Amino acid sequence: MFEPLDPAQTRAKGPASAPGPGHRHDWPELARALRQLLPAKAVVTARQELLAYDSDGLTLERHQPPLVVLPETTEQVAAVLRLCHERSIPFVARGSGTGLSGGAVAEVGALVIATSRMRQVLSVDLANQRITVQPGVINSWVTRSVVGDGFYYAPDPSSQQVCTIGGNVAENSGGVHCLKYGVTSNHVLEMEVVLPDGTVTTLGGPQPEMAALDLRGVFIGSEGTLGIATAITLRLLPAPASVAVLLADFASMAAAGEAVRQITGAGVLPAGMEMMDSPCIQAVDDYFGFDEYPREAAAVLLIELDGQELEVQDSVQLATRLCLQAGAGSVRQAWDESARARLWKGRKSAITAIGRQSPSYYLQDGVVPRTALPEVLAAIGDLSLEHGLSVANVFHAGDGNLHPLILYRASDPGVQERVHRLGGEILRLCIAAGGSITGEHGVGSDKRCYMDWMFSADDQATMLLVRQAFDPERRANPGKIFPTPKTCAESARRAVELKVQGVALPEGVVAF
Ligand SMILES: Cc1cc2nc3c(=O)[nH]c(=O)nc-3n(C[C@H](O)[C@H](O)[C@H](O)COP(=O)(O)OP(=O)(O)OC[C@H]3O[C@@H](n4cnc5c(N)ncnc54)[C@H](O)[C@@H]3O)c2cc1C
Repeated sequence: MFEPLDPAQTRAKGPASAPGPGHRHDWPELARALRQLLPAKAVVTARQELLAYDSDGLTLERHQPPLVVLPETTEQVAAVLRLCHERSIPFVARGSGTGLSGGAVAEVGALVIATSRMRQVLSVDLANQRITVQPGVINSWVTRSVVGDGFYYAPDPSSQQVCTIGGNVAENSGGVHCLKYGVTSNHVLEMEVVLPDGTVTTLGGPQPEMAALDLRGVFIGSEGTLGIATAITLRLLPAPASVAVLLADFASMAAAGEAVRQITGAGVLPAGMEMMDSPCIQAVDDYFGFDEYPREAAAVLLIELDGQELEVQDSVQLATRLCLQAGAGSVRQAWDESARARLWKGRKSAITAIGRQSPSYYLQDGVVPRTALPEVLAAIGDLSLEHGLSVANVFHAGDGNLHPLILYRASDPGVQERVHRLGGEILRLCIAAGGSITGEHGVGSDKRCYMDWMFSADDQATMLLVRQAFDPERRANPGKIFPTPKTCAESARRAVELKVQGVALPEGVVAF
């Protein structure tokens, strides 16, 4: 039904990609035209400066963009997109570039439109519990703007000190507190969006229920393929009356997984429930001198409980008992803010600590039903041994959202291929367990070749029809999410392998 896109090759072999179709554009001339629309300093052409935009958090893939613009207002974004429309220029929106699926990278030689100068809080409406921000506002700034009034913004990716609200919307990001409170889509009321032809439109509305198609819901999680969000109205929540954090240590990941199963099975809904394995525990100790977690533990579980004081006390007692029953060596409680922050610190710095320990890592993102955690974690351990690559685990256990970090040395010959192979095997395991190829980091370019594993050709054609309505020429973040024969020559073969090897696919999942 659709003509395939024609992006450059899937994975760059060196620091910059081979030229793609976007390279046919006259970029110096476009830069001159853009300087008529934007302040001179908002058009970035110097090679050294462009280097800063050549990857996101997925450093395995690097593609230097030909040109970057830094607009400050919706009008400027609209003017840039109108120019792109007139000249058929592809473009890629970019927030802070912390994405982990290659989403903000211009692999086909597209114009990058970065929102790093769109950082204003536009309005705060506490009576109606909402705040409107520009897309470049950093996630943690939202809570910081209203915490003094007793409110907060719930979705809190671990990257929240750096990532932007625009990036969160595009990825439908999750975080520690999304177990109880839901992901980004549950907290966005309204968005001002510039469509690929430069039209400015509003999706959603000030009230949660709108008498129209939920185009707000369609846009959230669309990974920059439908347009650019330029103002976002978010829900604010009142801060809970009481909060406690538990730290439980275990002699095996399976026992920690069992505790997760018991706690949720007992009807306790923690605000967050996070797990770290021994390599992560030791890395935070080695690199930050952080000795709050027992160094010899095979796993630690952090459980945050919030609500009214009596309710929290009851939940703390029950969760403590269930952890001990599942085999916890000890369970510590933290009630005041600084004690809670001390327990969270190791979890929040785990990925940075791993980054100091290993020259390179590839952070995978898959989902399994939380009841399958013990078996899937054990199977990931087996795969790590089989592929000869270390894997560290730190993840949102309550959501079954795994984040295995595959550690490698980029200079080892052929290592990237091995890393991708192991990453793919882990996702195959997730699907076989009834889960998904992504929990919160999106498909981007990294996982487009796995889409066939979960979605039939008809499923994908339906998604492309929706995209077509917003972006008929597919110039917004081209080449992302959907596989094409050119980018994913192997995907059909992998899917067939999946079927041939008799992996038990969950109902509704099609391997072809
Ligand atoms: C250490 C670390 C921890 C992380 N922890 C989490 C976590 O707990 N939960 C989680 O969900 N993610 C996590 N992430 C992933 C990442 O931080 C999120 O995906 C985040 O939302 C990306 O925001 P960004 O501003 O960096 O976006 P970018 O990486 O710049 O862009 C991401 C995508 O959004 C699009 N985009 C950006 N701005 C706009 C806009 N205004 N309009 C339309 N599209 C836009 C881009 O085109 C791209 O496709 C983590 C990443 C790191 C490095």
